[in-house]
Amino acid sequence: MDGGLSFMKRGEKLDNKTLLIIIGAVLAFVLLIPVINLMSGKKGGSLLRMPGIFTQTITPGPPKDSLAEVPSAYTNNVVLRIPILMYHHVGPLPGKPDALRKDLTVSSEDFEMQLAWLKAQGYESITLSDLQLFFQKKFSMPSKPVIFTFDDGYDDVFAYAQPLLKKYGFKGSYAIITQFPGITMGTNTYASWHQIKGAVKDGAEIVSHTQDHFDGTDKKYSDSFILQNYTDSIKDIKNNLGNNTTVLIYPYGHYNAHLIDLAKKAGFEMGVTTNFGKSVGLNNLMEVPRVRVHGHETMETFQKLINE
Ligand SMILES: [Zn+2]
Repeated sequence: MDGGLSFMKRGEKLDNKTLLIIIGAVLAFVLLIPVINLMSGKKGGSLLRMPGIFTQTITPGPPKDSLAEVPSAYTNNVVLRIPILMYHHVGPLPGKPDALRKDLTVSSEDFEMQLAWLKAQGYESITLSDLQLFFQKKFSMPSKPVIFTFDDGYDDVFAYAQPLLKKYGFKGSYAIITQFPGITMGTNTYASWHQIKGAVKDGAEIVSHTQDHFDGTDKKYSDSFILQNYTDSIKDIKNNLGNNTTVLIYPYGHYNAHLIDLAKKAGFEMGVTTNFGKSVGLNNLMEVPRVRVHGHETMETFQKLINE
């Protein structure tokens, strides 16, 4: 260091020459960086997009902007950071809505702004089944994944949210109450099987929210009732849509260890709650947390929900 400094202090002629050499060396190094990265297999933002089985050959940490916490190799200890957004109603409010309905309803305009922002941030939507497949090492996770869930299967989300999701190249995951399609209760109308089928054609995922939205933690329900209700909800989806779901979204977000056991017995491999959080791993697949999007969300609060 000292030598270099004293060298710089000599005459101007030498200085200019040295300067040119330094600039040349720096330029050559900068130009070489992409080549070095390529040779070492680094590609910005795509470290999680690995085909097939995750092996020991993949050791780098996640890119700075990634949501995923990747340990030194892909193992069963992977914990993914992923916002699983929870919506109920999307679209216009009914006449004289109460506070709860207002809270549960995101306007089409707000919803589209949220989608546009997520798109601009580089988020890619996956389904709950994709998340399951990821833990079975059968799905290559995008570097910025997001999941859009819609509880209850109201017709407004199929009418307003689904076309917007399609417009932005996103997929929706709809938890339907399998004995409710087509019926109206109060200000709520549930999407018909015909509507639901249309969304499925566009790539939507349909999962179970039970047959009748019963609260499984209520003591009045027997084990046999619960088990029957769970298995029949899977059958209803299979009979009407042809697909087999292994995902249950707990009505009211209520669940306990006993209910988890029954859900597993019925064939569910993932249970989704209303608990707040973004970390999903093999150890909490039956207690997957979500991020609730409220009707009164501003873009500022929405961005905070995603970024925090
Ligand atoms: Zn519900």
